Amino acid sequence: MLSTMQDVPLTIARIMRHGTTVHGGSKVVTWTGGTPRRTTYAEIGRRSAQLAHALRELGVTGDERVATFLWNNQEHLECYLAIPSMGAVLHTLNLRLPPEQLVYIANHADDRVLVLDGSLAALAAPLLPMLSTVEHVVVTGADTDLAPLADCGKQVHRYDDLLAGRPTEFDWAEDIDERQGAAMCYTSGTTGNPKGVVYSHRSTYLHSMQVCAMEGFGLGSGDLLLPVVPMFHVNAWGLPYAAMLCGASILMPDRFLQPEPLATMIAAEKPTFAAAVPTIWTGLLDYLDVHKTDVSSLKEVVVGGSACPPGLMHAFEERHGVRIIHAWGMTETSPLGSVARPPAGTTGDEAFSYRISQGRLPASVQARLVGPDGTDMPFDGEAVGELLVRGPWIAGAYIGDEGSADASGGGRFKDGWLYTGDVGTITADGFLRLTDRAKDVIKSGGEWISSVELENTLMGHEDVVEAAVVGVPDDKWGERPLATVVLREGAETTVEQLRDYLAGQVARWQVPERWSLIASVPKTSVGKFDKKVIRRQYAEGALE
Ligand code: ADP
Repeated sequence: MLSTMQDVPLTIARIMRHGTTVHGGSKVVTWTGGTPRRTTYAEIGRRSAQLAHALRELGVTGDERVATFLWNNQEHLECYLAIPSMGAVLHTLNLRLPPEQLVYIANHADDRVLVLDGSLAALAAPLLPMLSTVEHVVVTGADTDLAPLADCGKQVHRYDDLLAGRPTEFDWAEDIDERQGAAMCYTSGTTGNPKGVVYSHRSTYLHSMQVCAMEGFGLGSGDLLLPVVPMFHVNAWGLPYAAMLCGASILMPDRFLQPEPLATMIAAEKPTFAAAVPTIWTGLLDYLDVHKTDVSSLKEVVVGGSACPPGLMHAFEERHGVRIIHAWGMTETSPLGSVARPPAGTTGDEAFSYRISQGRLPASVQARLVGPDGTDMPFDGEAVGELLVRGPWIAGAYIGDEGSADASGGGRFKDGWLYTGDVGTITADGFLRLTDRAKDVIKSGGEWISSVELENTLMGHEDVVEAAVVGVPDDKWGERPLATVVLREGAETTVEQLRDYLAGQVARWQVPERWSLIASVPKTSVGKFDKKVIRRQYAEGALE
């Protein structure tokens, strides 16, 4: 029997209509380094309509791709709303990727128009001639010097001029097939070319509801969100769409992502919620230790993208009254996978042990753990396996793979499941605890060492700012850990002392013989520890 319920497509246009009308008074503040730019959701709605008209005039029809090369700001939010809501596909380009990857991605996605941040015009100029499918470049910032773009071979427009005088209403594609592509993201491609995922209207809508839910990020109209995570990193973890859905206001940090401006904007604008990878919070904590700043308006801060060191959680809570919520996800999972909110009734150490796990998987993220021989492992918090997931906002293929008989995406997708490449355990009450990424586990004489455990322990030392551990070849054991450590400025702790400290907390055979004190840990384009660079530096003899 079919249901008797209405079949209303879950589209981004509906999210936008709701946000820009019912929550029309909610605010969008863009940090500028000087006077912040302030606007409302209602105004964003009107400008999005103008943008959609402008894009139509530039020839954007159907499901063509419009790329963004933008920091987190008002214009990026307008693109987030207008592009999918007119039926086109938003393609957020990661502006920190190397040029050859950016060119590959934009050409692979068949981008027609590029919306370019004025502050990045000179950086992007040499790339533009290589973007073979891009016809128009729309540049933000009224004062942007367009001279560097003179020979780019594209039609160049100013964003504000293009919008000016256009109608502030648009016939949005509210009833488009909800399975149509709405937005796309490429993974950073640690091996081979980057791989693209296309989020649907439906997946984005459902994901946004989970982001707002209490067991998700628990957002509401009283919140002011600070998405430090870039809008080119998995749609800023879904925060812009979730905000539109629940009416939360947004503080956009633009390009001011260093500890000092972050601390200043938090103190001035008083956001209640923020999200970013651990390295951002490590840097901010270090800054706050020296420059006392009140950041206690932040009720909760979501940390994900890589494992959150427990010491960071303690430090923010004890020294600044800010609660860190740990979460796990990937580009392929939209990204919300699990959120570490301890079960009701738990307190103290027990609650903390839940909080440092990767969190509880929601109903829409079904999971399996698969052992090395392919058998399913029990959810008993002990048995270790690779995490497989499926659900309505989990990718089923990469772009270009979806029509092929073997939609395997290099082994990532099989029998309707996404093989995450993450290894860990799941408890009977649904909490995921990752021990490592499969490719980062250190295989030492038949035993496995978790690089994350060594890093977290080291980062619990008062003089350690950052620590990254990788496996390096070893004649006797096959692989042994190499610890690279960044010490607090002026700290005099020695490697010997760090070794003793570690030996007191992990099994002795896991303690690295190889150490390197470094000035900073190399980071990926989205701010995670870049372990392949560390391995390469070691192989080249650059780390001793
Ligand atoms: P990239 O591969 O470029 O890092 P993603 O941002 O999609 O791209 O990264 C997803 C991966 O990040 C996950 O598969 C996992 O290994 C890691 N990750 C994300 N969140 C966490 C977390 N809370 N703890 C440990 N690892 C995490």
